[in-house]
Amino acid sequence: MKQKKSIFFLLIFPFFSVFCQTNDGTEKRIQNLIKKMTLTEKVGLLHANSKFYISGVKRLGIPEWALSDGPNGVRAEISRNSWQSAGLTTDSATCFPSGTAMAATWNLDLTRQRGFVLGEEARFRKKDVLLGPGINIIRSPLCGRNFEYLSEDPFLTSQLAVTYIKALQTKDVAASVKHFLANNQEDNRFSIDVNMSERALREIYLPAFKSAIVDGGALSVMAAYNKFRGEWCTENSYLGRTILRDEFHFNGVYMSDWDATHSTEKAALAGLDLEMGTNVSEYSDYFFADFLIKAVQEGRLNENVVNEKVANVLRVMFETKIFDPKNREKGCINTKEHQQVAYRSAVEGIVLLKNENTVLPLNIKSLKSVAVIGDNATREHCAGGLSSGIKALYEITPLKALTQKFGNNLKINFAQGYKKQSTFFEGSNKGQLNTDFVDWTLINVAVEQAKKSDVAIIFGGLNHDFDTESFDRIHMRLPYGQEILIQEVAKVNPRTIVVIIAGSPLELSGIAYRVPAIVWAWYGGMEAGNAICDVLSGKEFPSGKLPFTLPVTLNQSPAHALGCYPGHNLETTYDEDILVGYRWFDYKGIEPQYPFGYGLSYSTFNINNISSDKKEYSKDDEIMVTLNLKNSGERNGAEVIQVYASQPDCSVMRPIKELKAFQKVFLNSGDEKFVTLKLKVQDLAYYSEKMNKWIVESGRYILYVGTSSRDISSSLTVVVK
Ligand code: BGC
Repeated sequence: MKQKKSIFFLLIFPFFSVFCQTNDGTEKRIQNLIKKMTLTEKVGLLHANSKFYISGVKRLGIPEWALSDGPNGVRAEISRNSWQSAGLTTDSATCFPSGTAMAATWNLDLTRQRGFVLGEEARFRKKDVLLGPGINIIRSPLCGRNFEYLSEDPFLTSQLAVTYIKALQTKDVAASVKHFLANNQEDNRFSIDVNMSERALREIYLPAFKSAIVDGGALSVMAAYNKFRGEWCTENSYLGRTILRDEFHFNGVYMSDWDATHSTEKAALAGLDLEMGTNVSEYSDYFFADFLIKAVQEGRLNENVVNEKVANVLRVMFETKIFDPKNREKGCINTKEHQQVAYRSAVEGIVLLKNENTVLPLNIKSLKSVAVIGDNATREHCAGGLSSGIKALYEITPLKALTQKFGNNLKINFAQGYKKQSTFFEGSNKGQLNTDFVDWTLINVAVEQAKKSDVAIIFGGLNHDFDTESFDRIHMRLPYGQEILIQEVAKVNPRTIVVIIAGSPLELSGIAYRVPAIVWAWYGGMEAGNAICDVLSGKEFPSGKLPFTLPVTLNQSPAHALGCYPGHNLETTYDEDILVGYRWFDYKGIEPQYPFGYGLSYSTFNINNISSDKKEYSKDDEIMVTLNLKNSGERNGAEVIQVYASQPDCSVMRPIKELKAFQKVFLNSGDEKFVTLKLKVQDLAYYSEKMNKWIVESGRYILYVGTSSRDISSSLTVVVK
């Protein structure tokens, strides 16, 4: 990565990336260009001319616009007019861990690095817009796209999204934050009508989009497939006009998801700018092609509506220096530095869930043999999941890494343990049916390998037949008879370590008490195997924290407890309202398997002297929480300090606690550090449906400081006047 430029951009960040600041000169140039364009040329900028491109206007120097998926890397090239691979040999890229893994790092510096890398690779591949990040709230453990999203918590999601977008856009590539809005399930994603209260919208589902646009300066937003309160997102004026344009002052490009547009005038008036992926044979048959020209010619739509959209497209082009190619980021791809960021991201996302008797880290030198068990020990995942899949330059699986690093001195006894029984069925989760066959032949081999090994490591979890765009999972259990496999191996080898590779919650109750160590390693991208191996062996330490609650059973989780997933007759109402994720578990007093924000370390940390800078605050103040963090263990490590707020005497119901600040702190063994976390008093507000606005009530607030949503070291009471 071009580090110098990154640092330079960091310094001037606040002034540079917020696109609303396009100056008068640019706005004049935009208007001049529009004046010179024919209606047909204008409309050409508002719909695709192939799968991922939009026509330019050659005679005016407006080039074709190039879009690409996605959030984990720059997607491989497909044919212009079909989803078939373009068959290139030059489109491999750096592949990052997927969304939940990124969120599990709780590390904004690393998220920023990822943004820089993605921007550089996108530019090298001549892309103008990179579709992502996907920031829908993780509502149901079953959502097929959870792995791609970030968290169940709006604050954590917002922080990550803003950091990623700002960094990406410094490289002259537009982010397209998606999927706006309420695309929280993949089942019936093309037709489901989502209803929720205004408060749930404002407090849970909207904040990350708002931050992405207002604070992150996202240049583009992608409208979701589903309906929201009875209308398609692409033609919902409340979303596209009232919220995006009027409230958030968004004047970038509002594009449709691929084949999510359903009308011409209605969508045009609702604020949609760009139509992508519509399933018709001619691009001229798109709603925003000949039909749009006709609507203007016949007086059904004022040409100013078209002009506004064209201005939005041109504005993003100016912002990403399309008209200033000399000064535009040239990019670079597949550099060692990029791979190093991918490696660090994989390492820091790894969550240590259980570590009885300090089984981990492994003292490799003292071992003679290790059983490596499980289909996920050898399975590559980078290319899976549909639109977020990446053609990685290389992908290191766990077995490959273990063999490369320790194969000379350690006898590695591999056994597949279980077989992938599912198949990928686009648009349907049929392929997940009948995947619970317990293959005793494979289990018996694994047990034999485990018996003769000093340690057994089982790499299990899911794969992209489950964690995928386009449908949800049918249950939350470990598929393929893995539970039995793990239990049988644990019976013969007390040092059995389970490594879960998955992007969304899984039921672990059947194994949690039977093995001494559980590690959650996500889809770790191209460096996954190296990262896992280095964490297991202690070369690196685990420092990830869960970005979602791991329920004991599916029925514990709110949408399922209330029976409002996946909805009836293609309609769903989010009855759990604002009690999503840990907010529900806290409020109902339910003990999850592992709580939001949880993750162990190889070391131990002490938090002392927690205090706030004042006891009383006014509504415009910032609250400063300070504490002393000490690494009191024998190993280096990192702890994520989390501050949750609560208002015990509010006039409306409020969650028991809500995340308001966090910081990841690295400390060598024995070291300590004075840590400062800040939050605005305004961040303590709730959304009043009565008054249609955010309210901070005067009175008492409690700030909980801890290392997970359930490991609270101490609390502070402050008063807001
Ligand atoms: C997905 C989007 C993606 C688009 C283009 C859609 O199916 O929902 O997230 O960006 O395809 O691949």
